[in-house]
Amino acid sequence: MRFGIHVPKQSSLTATARYANDIGCETMQIFSGNPMAWQIGILNPDDRGGFVRTKKSAGIDPVLVHSPYLINIASPDQRLRELSTGTLVDAMVRASDLESGPVVVHAGNHKGVGVAAGISAARSMIKRVLAFSPSEVTLAIENSAGMGTAIGVSLDELADIVGPFPAERVGILLDTAHLWAVGYDLRQPDEVDRLVDDVHRGPGLERLWAIHANDSLKELGSRRDVHAMWTSGRMGMRAMRNLIRSRELQRLPVIFEVSGEAAELDRIRLSSMRRRDQRYGHRPVRDASV
Ligand SMILES: [Zn+2]
Ligand SMILES: [Zn+2]
Repeated sequence: MRFGIHVPKQSSLTATARYANDIGCETMQIFSGNPMAWQIGILNPDDRGGFVRTKKSAGIDPVLVHSPYLINIASPDQRLRELSTGTLVDAMVRASDLESGPVVVHAGNHKGVGVAAGISAARSMIKRVLAFSPSEVTLAIENSAGMGTAIGVSLDELADIVGPFPAERVGILLDTAHLWAVGYDLRQPDEVDRLVDDVHRGPGLERLWAIHANDSLKELGSRRDVHAMWTSGRMGMRAMRNLIRSRELQRLPVIFEVSGEAAELDRIRLSSMRRRDQRYGHRPVRDASV
C-alpha cells in the first residue's frame, strides 16, 4: 500500500508538498481550494511550479485533489447544479495544472426525489463535467455514509453512477468510516472479503482507485459520519490490519484524513502504518523452484 495524509494547506502549495515529503508521504490529498467555497481562487504560477517539482522529486503519487463539500452532483435544484458543475470543473482544471488527480467528489444527495433520479442527475452532471475538463484528469466518486438522502451508499449504487463512463476516467474511492456507517464491520476479515466481492461485482476492482482510511466515533451501521484517528475510534487497528492484509487492496493509495495537526505525530503514524504493511501486507508468492 502507499500511505499518505490529507495535508492541510500550509503557507503555499509548495510548502504543502514539502510538509508531505517531510513526514514521509508516498501519496497525499489536498483540497482543490477552500472546501467551503464555490470559488477556487487564483493559482500563483511560481507556487504551481514549486508544488509540481516538490511532489515529483519526492515521488509522491498519486496526489488526490478533494473538491469542495458544497458540491452536490445529485442535486435536483438547477441553480445548485450550475454552481456544482462549475466548481467541479474548476477542481478538474486545478488538478490538471498541478499535474495531479484523481479529483475526489462525494456521491451527493438526491434531496427527496429518490435514489434513481439522484443517480441519473449525478450521471448527467459527470458527463458535463468531463466534457468541460482537461482530458487527462480523472474523477473518483466517494461512497456516502448513508445520512439523509445520500446516494452512492452501496457499491451497487456507485456502480450505477460510474457505469456509463470509461473505467480509465471515472472511478470510485472508499472511505472506511463511511463503509462502517453502512454496516461493513471491517474488524472481521470476512467482512473485508465481502467488501472486495461487492466491489468486484459492482463497479469492478479496476475502478477502485483509493481509500480514505478513517476510523469512526459512531456505531457500526449508524449511518452517521464522524471521523476519528485509528487509535481512538470504534473500528480500531484490527480493521486497518485486515485492509492491509487484503491482496486486492494491496496496490491502493491510502489517505488518512484525520491528520496534519503536528508533523512529528504524522511522521510517527505513517511509519507505524508502513511497518504494519511490511509485517502483514500481501507479498507475492515466491517461486518454489528458486
Ligand atoms: Zn470526502
Ligand atoms: Zn466522512
